[in-house]
Order: sequence, then structure tokens, then C-alpha cells
Amino acid sequence: MGHPAILTVDDDASVSRAIARDLRRRYGENYRIIRAASAAEALEALKEIKLRGGRVAVMLADYRMPQMNGIEFLEQGMDLFPNARRALLTAYADTDAAIRAINVVDVDHYLLKPWDPPEEKLYPVIDALLDAWQATGDRELEDLRVVGHRWSEPSYQIRDFLARNLVPYRWLAADEPEGRRLLEAAGVGPESVPLLVTADGRAMARPTTSAVAEAAGLSTVAGRDFYDLIIVGGGPAGLGAAVYGASEGLKTLLVERQAVGGQAGQSSRIENYLGFPDGISGAQLTDRARRQAGKFSAEVLNTRTVTGLRSEGSARTLSFDNGAEVSAHAIVLATGVAYRPLVADGVADLTGSGVYYGSAFTEGPECAGNDVYIVGGANSAGQAALFFSGYARTVTLLVRGDSLEASMSYYLIQQLSKIENVRIRTHCEVVSAHGDGHLQTITVCDGKNGLSTTVECGFLFVFIGAEPHTDWLGDIVARDGRGFIYTGPDLLTNGTRPRGWDRDRDPFYLECSVPGIFAAGDVRANSVKRVASAVGEGAMAVTLVHRYLEAQ
Ligand SMILES: Cc1cc2nc3c(=O)[nH]c(=O)nc-3n(C[C@H](O)[C@H](O)[C@H](O)COP(=O)(O)OP(=O)(O)OC[C@H]3O[C@@H](n4cnc5c(N)ncnc54)[C@H](O)[C@@H]3O)c2cc1C
Repeated sequence: MGHPAILTVDDDASVSRAIARDLRRRYGENYRIIRAASAAEALEALKEIKLRGGRVAVMLADYRMPQMNGIEFLEQGMDLFPNARRALLTAYADTDAAIRAINVVDVDHYLLKPWDPPEEKLYPVIDALLDAWQATGDRELEDLRVVGHRWSEPSYQIRDFLARNLVPYRWLAADEPEGRRLLEAAGVGPESVPLLVTADGRAMARPTTSAVAEAAGLSTVAGRDFYDLIIVGGGPAGLGAAVYGASEGLKTLLVERQAVGGQAGQSSRIENYLGFPDGISGAQLTDRARRQAGKFSAEVLNTRTVTGLRSEGSARTLSFDNGAEVSAHAIVLATGVAYRPLVADGVADLTGSGVYYGSAFTEGPECAGNDVYIVGGANSAGQAALFFSGYARTVTLLVRGDSLEASMSYYLIQQLSKIENVRIRTHCEVVSAHGDGHLQTITVCDGKNGLSTTVECGFLFVFIGAEPHTDWLGDIVARDGRGFIYTGPDLLTNGTRPRGWDRDRDPFYLECSVPGIFAAGDVRANSVKRVASAVGEGAMAVTLVHRYLEAQ
């Protein structure tokens, strides 16, 4: 296979020549620099590379071009090379449009023209884009294939895992010709689905999540036995701690049991995170944070659930569900919260087959033409209603209280009120869910008159509050009655330090009842349940880890 390409497109010949020259000077040895004078010419070049089985690492497009502008070009280029990193070249006057584009089509960067000197303004950006591209490899959509049944929980689990970890894959139904062909080639019948087939032709029937992670190139084994800092949980708090810890020179390991991004990764659009005036999807934010953590060499361990924690001298040791152990000088607990289960007849059996917790983005296109119901009245439910209204025939929010005002942000209520296919039913509770193999109807009780009605429903998404992931901690650190972890000032009772505390100082602000163990984000008692505060606490925890280590 030849060198991967860096493609640049600008209709201004002198700019185009200059950028190609600068790119060649620095990257010409390892990359093929391709120059196009229009978006149409660049798309032709991309198609040709695709047909020849070549790779594209970076696409750089001028924003203002006749016929097709840079954003439209990058969108189409993404269809051909989804993993290629993307940047827009803009003039100062177009900065606003470029920033909007970053959020809408997930452009990685924008570069202001002119970019002199390239050593300062061009190469650092291209270096970062190439690093990001190399980190994801140049896996194309076809690399991983999953054959499964539409309404099967194990098939859904694999698709959800791959989607939440931002791993491209191709989904094939077991009863469609291509799916049948793959099953036949693997020598198994439809009872063996889900079947995972890797790019090099390895077929795995009913793989474990760890096997799926390994096939997708996600690390599942820690690289060393001892770290400066181990972070448990890869949501915004954990990712924040990983970025700050690793960037400040600590040997850092982040352990995530499911998918980095945590709850935020499931948000269709986070509108209140500083610096993203047009909002950013949880997937985009996660992708950026994960790359940033990787850039500073934080290690990420996937599909490993931490099940135990003990303190021996100055070492803090974590044990995992597979029996492995790993130790560190300090630990940050950032295990967040998980959805509370909906208790109603039939719901447990249909979970994954029409009933879902969280937004379950993979299901968006499947909802087309269906009536979707969402249980819950908080922002997460409101965002899901906005997201699914773009696919479903109708979206009904089932709210237990008498209005949304007490639980949902004003801006979301306003947005929902303007969407024609969204309905809001208050005083309602789901009492049962029915279906043969997959959800078909739900019975809803109206709290005002006590009447129950059964309605057709192919998809039910549940967002009814959350509980902390802390049962595994037992008595190791002090927790409140609901399981949230006490830290800092909350540990002092009338100025008295917690039982067993052996230091000549009060616990630091985010420190738990055991020195050297910290908590950040939603899992912390009395925390603000927001992305920004979780990220902030992750960063702050690292500063306190430094203070703790200095005093050791
Ligand atoms: C759908 C949705 C939309 C939201 N929208 C917004 C919004 O627009 N704005 C906003 O500010 N906030 C929003 N929030 C809230 C925000 O996402 C959370 O406050 C934030 O994610 C908390 O971050 P965290 O890192 O503390 O925890 P989490 O995001 O809960 O992450 C915790 C992570 O720890 C992992 N974990 C748990 N236990 C273990 C274990 N034992 N071993 C290994 N890993 C473990 C979990 O798998 C998870 O990935 C939204 C939440 C949801 C669900």
C-alpha cells in the first residue's frame, strides 16, 4: 500500500500552491500531498484513491469556494473516508462560520489564512490531525462487521458498545443475503449470532465485550503494575482527570468498564458546555477528550470493571472483574451514576428489544415512522425527545409530575414546544410493557383519573434518575445514605476528622475518608450534575493528588 494522502483543496491557485509546498516540505517523505483546485476535482481524487484501495489521513479545504464550499466538500469527503481528519482554511472574516462548522460537521480544526510561519501556525495543527488519524488507524467502515438479529439483546449490546466507543462497523441482519453469506462462511447458523467478523476475516460467535474491544483495537490489559494515578471511570470527570494528570507528568491509567464518555457520551447535544455556543454532541466531545488524553500518553483500559479497592501503606490497589490487580500512589473515583431501572411488568424482559436506557443513538434511524415514548422529565429526556423527533412519527414524553418546569431547563422546554410531532403527557406512569420478542405496546396509567390505556409503541426510552456506581466500595470510603461518596468538608463532623483518618491535616476538598483516594464528578456527594463541573472536578482532583504526593 502506498503512502497515505494529505489532500488540500483551494480555488485560489496561489494559496493552493503555497499550502501544497509547505505540506510537501514537512510531510512529503511519508505522505502523498494531493492538490485540487475545486471541490469537484478533490472529490474525484478521493474517489480514485478509494477505488485503488488507498488511504487519506487529512483533508484540508478552503471555506469559500464557488459551487461547493469547504464544509459541503468535507461532509461528502467524510462519506468516502470517515476516519480522515478534517480542517477548514478560512479568512478572518469567516471565523464565525468556521466555528459553526466545527460543531455541525465535526471539523477538527480551522486554520486562518495566511498561516505564516508554518512552523507555528500550520504544522502543529497538521501534526495533531495526523496523530489523531494514526491513533484511530485507518479502519474503514467495512473493517468490522456484526451479523445479528434486529430485536436481540446480545446483538444490541454489541452495536451499542461499538457505537458508544466510536468504532466504525457494518451491521448486517442475519436474515438478509449478505448476513446469511457471512454466517455460512463462518460455518455457523443463525442461532450463533451475534457474529463479529474482523477485517482479517476472523469470525467470533457471541463474543464477550472484551473480545469485541480487542477486535476493535481497544486496549484491555494494563501496560504496567504500578502507576502514579489510576482513575476509575471514563466519563467527563475521569477524562478530565486523565488529561490533566498525564499532561502534568503523572503516569496515568484510566479504567472504563463500558465506554469512555460516560453519561455525557450518550447526550445527543450538550448545549451548556462552555466554548460550544452551538452545542456539541456527546460523541464529539468524547472523541476529542479521548484523543487529548491519548496525546498526553494517558493509558486507557477498556471493558474492565473495578470491583475492589484496598489500601496498603502508601499503595492503593484496585482489583478488576477478571481477577487482575493494579496499584498506584493515588486513585480518583469518577464512576458517575447509572439509570435507575423502570419497575413495571414486562420491562426487564424487553430491555434491549424495544426498551432502552439512555438515548441509544443506534436506534435513531430504526425509529423512522414509529411512535416513540420517553419516560422522564429531566434534561436528558428532553434532549432525547429532540433527537428522536427527527426520526419518529411521534414522540411522547411521559412525565410523572404535573409539569416539566421543575425538572427541565427552560431552553429545552421552549425548543420542544415548537416541534409538531412531540407531545407531553404529565401525571403519567408506565405500568406494563408487552411484546412477543420485541416491544409492541405499553400500558400507561393517568394519575389524575386512575385510567389505564394501552398504546402501540415500538420504542420506549427510559430516563428516570440515577444511582451512583459505588456498591463495590463497601465500607472502604465513607458514603451517604444513597451511596454517594463524601469528600473534603463533608467528612468533618463538628470539625472532627473521619474515623481512621491518620494525617495531621483535614482531608483535601475532593479527598475521601482514606488519604490518597479522591472522588470527582456525579459520584461525589452534593456534586453538581453537569459536564462542566465533572470536568472541572477531574482537573481539580489532579491538583490535589499533587499536593497529596508532595506531602508523602
Ligand atoms: C442523556 C444525558 C444528557 C445529558 N446532558 C447534559 C447536558 O446537556 N449538560 C450537562 O452539563 N450535563 C448533561 N448531562 C449530565 C452529565 O452527562 C453528567 O453530569 C456527567 O456525565 C457526569 O460525569 P462523570 O464523569 O462524573 O460520570 P459519568 O458520566 O456517569 O461517567 C462515569 C463512568 O464510569 C464508568 N464506571 C462506573 N463504574 C465503574 C467501575 N466499577 N469500573 C470501571 N468503570 C466504571 C461508567 O461506565 C461511566 O462511563 C447529561 C446526562 C445524560 C445521561
